[in-house]
Amino acid sequence: MLARMQAAGLEGISGYPVEVQTYARQKTPRFSVVGLPDAALREARDRVKAAILSSGFDFPPMELTTNLTPARRRKDEGSAFDLPMALTILAAMDSGLPASCLERVAALGELTLGGETRPVRGALAAAETLAACDPLPEMLLVPSANAEAAAFGCGGRVPVVEVDTLAQAVAILTKKAPATPVEVDVERILAAPAACDALDLREVRGNDAAKQALEVAAAGGHDLLFIGPPGAGKTMLARRLPGLLPPLRLEEVLEVSRVHAIASGVDPERANSLVRRRPFRAPHHTASYASLVGGGSFPRPGEISLAHKGVLFLDELPEFSPRSLEALREPLEERRITVARSRGSMTFPAEFQLVAAMNPCPCGYLGVHSAGRSLRCKCPPLAAERYQQRISGPLLDRIDLVARLQPVPPALLQAPPGPDESYTSEAVARRVGQARAIQRERAGRLNARLDARALRRTLALTPAAKQVLLRAGEQSLLSGRGLAKVQRVARTLADLDGQAKVDREHVARAVHLRAGERRAA
Ligand SMILES: [Zn+2]
Repeated sequence: MLARMQAAGLEGISGYPVEVQTYARQKTPRFSVVGLPDAALREARDRVKAAILSSGFDFPPMELTTNLTPARRRKDEGSAFDLPMALTILAAMDSGLPASCLERVAALGELTLGGETRPVRGALAAAETLAACDPLPEMLLVPSANAEAAAFGCGGRVPVVEVDTLAQAVAILTKKAPATPVEVDVERILAAPAACDALDLREVRGNDAAKQALEVAAAGGHDLLFIGPPGAGKTMLARRLPGLLPPLRLEEVLEVSRVHAIASGVDPERANSLVRRRPFRAPHHTASYASLVGGGSFPRPGEISLAHKGVLFLDELPEFSPRSLEALREPLEERRITVARSRGSMTFPAEFQLVAAMNPCPCGYLGVHSAGRSLRCKCPPLAAERYQQRISGPLLDRIDLVARLQPVPPALLQAPPGPDESYTSEAVARRVGQARAIQRERAGRLNARLDARALRRTLALTPAAKQVLLRAGEQSLLSGRGLAKVQRVARTLADLDGQAKVDREHVARAVHLRAGERRAA
């Protein structure tokens, strides 16, 4: 007898429909599976057989052929087919489950040898695929830990039913147990308080200019470089950037969750929770190229993609390998990253905001002042220059904002936050939200993403502002590219002020923010 049901395969972060078919006949007992990689196949066969037997079902001696079509497509998550394989086998062998009960039913889930279901990776993408199938499945059976992500992916089009065991799935399909669809309250889930909200800008003392640079970066989507001595608070500031950005929209939650669900090193149990807040990823400079970029025989996204829609923080930027720094170019330009693999390549999204940090020189104290005194740089001559040159021009070209930090005096660190409330994360986030709304309305994108033409159209300089810009150019403070960056940042400063025109003070402040870079030398 033949039994079939719907399932979904996963390739990278997207899913594709798979039909699981099992044919059983009275012949020499044999169990073959077509359509899984060899290693996954043997394991799946053993798991499924054990799960069926320990669930109390018969496994009569028959010839069984299970086919996962399309057979030729690679199945990155083989174990997700355990449950549909077991169900079609039971139906094909006529072991207590009529094949008609599987019609227009979809299932995904791994099985333990004892017959319990275990969560799989990529349930969200798999569910999205099934909810786009024609004909639509009438029901999707998933392990409990996958239920929320699957229900999100189905978007109400396919009822999602959670099953803890193979036996329970059979009971539901034969109507011996009720099928209660999982309800997800999208509004409630999105409104749940995010842990990063707990990090407030108010706790960061001193370095007001750097805080302002962070606000401008958040408002215009500008990539940012902090230069300062160790302990000046670069990491503290960077960690607070996600809290200044608008909350993720529903589509963004789904997009980010899809990427995180298949990241390597993520336990499937945890891979199923939806990512509701903007990611903050801070890979160490010793991190391998593959862990940054992604890769592997089943390509997984790396840190660069895990920062999608959030913040990628690279502390001690010059210490990263030249190959890793070079790898940042594609995502900074294209907002995605291509991972090479043996068979063709795979693309992962990588739309992050970059915050980089570095010491001004190897010892960390060049140009640093404390309590009104200049600290002594102990580096040999030219060491600082060589250190800064490790960062390639093309990478620096992408960074619109450079902020210098100074050590915070101990007295200020010990004093309680003052009455100045303007630099709470909440207040900054509100200003950032308003400035972003203006940019969306005007150009449909953030100022950092304006190309030369769009920039000319939106700039609207006052005559006085033009003068300031001209003078900066004459004093050769700005290269051609530097000029465009100053214009973009000035545009953001004007948007933060709610002004349609960019005035001289906006340009002057933007020039000042660029100047941080040169003064490092
Ligand atoms: Zn030094």
